[in-house]
Amino acid sequence: MADLKNNFVFCGKDVVIRTDGSAITDEDMQIFLTLWPDAESFVEVANNISVVGLKKQEILPNGFTWTTIRSRFAAMGDGSFYMARAKALLEWRRNTCYCGRCGAKLIESSKFTAMECPECGNEIFPRINPCVIMLVSKGDEILLARHAQRNQDVYSCLAGFVEAGETLEQAVHREIMEETGIKVKNVKYYASQSWPFPAQLMFGFTAEYESGDITLQPEEIADAQWFPRSQCPATPIEGSLAYRLIHNS
Ligand SMILES: [Zn+2]
Repeated sequence: MADLKNNFVFCGKDVVIRTDGSAITDEDMQIFLTLWPDAESFVEVANNISVVGLKKQEILPNGFTWTTIRSRFAAMGDGSFYMARAKALLEWRRNTCYCGRCGAKLIESSKFTAMECPECGNEIFPRINPCVIMLVSKGDEILLARHAQRNQDVYSCLAGFVEAGETLEQAVHREIMEETGIKVKNVKYYASQSWPFPAQLMFGFTAEYESGDITLQPEEIADAQWFPRSQCPATPIEGSLAYRLIHNS
């Protein structure tokens, strides 16, 4: 029988899929909860989302396999909302246990997808961290960077968190200047993507080179270069906003 629930079983950056490609059913979820009764689990009725969060990458029953959440995003396209939300809520619940105002243990709100404090009434909604990601162009060339800490095998767009008080455009200018010493102009919004690792909302922009020579911020950037659009090095996976900026913008 077709299953209308959006069922997900996560562990870290991986998610369980059925090897035949069909959706994870309610019965499957029960199997996982029976096998691993100490796993976290929750349901968000409003979006018909059901989640099991395993503590370690268990050996799965026949018919199931692990894959990366990132590769599923690529396969799902715009249908990734439910998985992005499920992953975001799992991370948020893990990190939202005590009231930041009075320190009491939080309980689930009966009205919203939120946690609430039984002592002081504080309500905490799922949090999103805004980030900017931008592709800088100079004629037919684009500026790509290899990060010093993560994904060191690919060249990607520059990116960073928006700081308190900033507009998105100010964050674009600041991040590019900090990481590469380049001044840009004509900053234009391109598209956005939820990136729940753990809770980013990525705002994609394009920008044009105005002035400056590449000067790396070594704690953040291992290398940055201008590449001809037709001769890009290894770039992030298809389905990511970085990929779309590099190959489609
Ligand atoms: Zn409180």
